[in-house]
Amino acid sequence: MAVDHPMLTGVPPLVFLGLEDGQASFAADLSAWGPESGEAGEQGFFDATRQRHPALPDASGFEDLRQAMMRLSRREAELAATARAILHWHQSHGFCAACGARSVVAQSGWQRDCPACGAHHFPRTDPVVIMLVTHGNRVLLGRNAVWPEGMYSLLAGFVEPGETLEAAVRREVFEEAGVRVGAVGYLASQPWPFPASLMLGALAVALDDQITLDPVELRDALWVTRGEMVQIFAGAHPRISPPRKGAIAAFLMRNWLADSLD
Ligand SMILES: [Zn+2]
Repeated sequence: MAVDHPMLTGVPPLVFLGLEDGQASFAADLSAWGPESGEAGEQGFFDATRQRHPALPDASGFEDLRQAMMRLSRREAELAATARAILHWHQSHGFCAACGARSVVAQSGWQRDCPACGAHHFPRTDPVVIMLVTHGNRVLLGRNAVWPEGMYSLLAGFVEPGETLEAAVRREVFEEAGVRVGAVGYLASQPWPFPASLMLGALAVALDDQITLDPVELRDALWVTRGEMVQIFAGAHPRISPPRKGAIAAFLMRNWLADSLD
């Protein structure tokens, strides 16, 4: 929509996303608007609802980006990920971390300045490792306690201060599943603005296959063969649902299955 659309009246300062073919794109924080009661989004792991704004055409609506992203082009997905991450940063970083005063938006949304002490603050991104842990012809999948029934995925965790990507992979796999990892290699990455992560996909070769679960982190973990992975992607596995399309876990699992990781 154009920047003078009535829906954008009174919203926080727009964030400049970039120029393409001479046209500038901006992100707007519309979270002050809420749908009529009864249309509110679902609480919990995933919100599958859609809300309509009265100032928008009938075909337009608000959806969880995780639901909508499969219908976006690469450029739209890139812009949506950027917008969601940086708008969340503004929502959660309204005060100066140095002195506590309220900070103000600067640099077209890419910086916040503190009028009290002069500090500049910049958008943050949290690195997360997500691991394709292999042992021979099998890959390690885990199930978080809060996930929907049947959902399994690759193990993942935040990189901690002082860690390399490799160290984070080895620590997370050992903490969550008790499995020792040897060689670690980088595969691919994905911005994951829920709210501010960069997913770093890694190949991790397990030194043994003995699983010792951390019940706080994981409800279950198991080794899956390529034959079982075919069943999972086909929706024919008795315990494990197909991975969610669009997420890096599905990309890594599919390429492992196709033997096309490199
Ligand atoms: Zn300050």
